[in-house]
Amino acid sequence: MKLSFVIPCYNEEDNVELIHDKISETFKKVKYDYELIFINDGSKDKTIINLRKLVKKSKQNIKVVDFSKNFGKEAAIYAGLKESTGELVSLIDADMQQDPKYVLEMVEFLDANEEYDSVAMYQDKRREGKVLSFFKKSFYKLINKISDTKFTSNASDFRTLRRNMVDAILSVKEYYRFSKGIFSWVGFNTKYMPYQVLDRATGTTKWSFKKLFKYALDGIISFTTAPLKMATYVGLFSSFCSIVYLVVVIIQKLCFGIDIPGYATIITLILFLGGLQLFSLGIIGEYIARTYIEVKERPIYIAREVISNRSK
Ligand code: UDP
Ligand code: MG
Repeated sequence: MKLSFVIPCYNEEDNVELIHDKISETFKKVKYDYELIFINDGSKDKTIINLRKLVKKSKQNIKVVDFSKNFGKEAAIYAGLKESTGELVSLIDADMQQDPKYVLEMVEFLDANEEYDSVAMYQDKRREGKVLSFFKKSFYKLINKISDTKFTSNASDFRTLRRNMVDAILSVKEYYRFSKGIFSWVGFNTKYMPYQVLDRATGTTKWSFKKLFKYALDGIISFTTAPLKMATYVGLFSSFCSIVYLVVVIIQKLCFGIDIPGYATIITLILFLGGLQLFSLGIIGEYIARTYIEVKERPIYIAREVISNRSK
């Protein structure tokens, strides 16, 4: 098998056929042997019914992994990679925002350039609000500063990977999967190419600001322990300040006999340090909570069924 498409679907009932047809049309010209792997990520609409219909009537090789509930796009990507058999694997959204013609570009590039192991598409111009854009930029700045893993801003999950890289990604078995980090962490040579995002064909985006914020936090906690060290440094600094202040108070008392009116200072300091302590505890708590989930080694996804039209 030359190429596998991994297509995560969450409430994409009207898009699954559209993306299938678009891929078939784009790849008609080339004689690649390819397969489509749809992951139904616990959709609440008719996605699975439409996927079953597609499996029956399509001339392409299709596999559908039907999740038992919504496990999230990251889990869907993992499942897709696991089920894929192609020498190359392309990740593409079901919502038609990513034109399959770029997949052709990526495949041709990898065929011509053996030294590269993957191609990642990045958005030429971000088509989103200024506020969201600002937060995303700040996120990349922050995470690149505090993490050893490098994150390319604007790079999407729209990628094509060689088999060796797919196997490497599959060997990373963590539950909290922040794909952008994993893609970078496993190494290999990645070529970045620009692409134009299209409008969603039907349906709405699954990313609210709250979800994105949680996702960003996952990314930071998964790829750096720098926040844990913050408590150490802030603690050291405030201890140092308190010693200096103590010396000042003693000198004032002994040499000049000044009584320090301390009420306001004490309240402020107690609140400040109490706040800092709780904040640090919260950070430690975030890491412990994730460690707790990770040590349970729960499966990344559970499939109700895997449907395929391939005659094996
Ligand atoms: N998706 C998924 N599980 C989820 C959320 C999203 O499989 O829990 C899929 C979704 O169906 C789509 C892709 O991931 O094919 C990207 O989602 P979306 O279009 O909502 O994200 P955006 O393009 O707005 O970043
Ligand atoms: Mg989308």
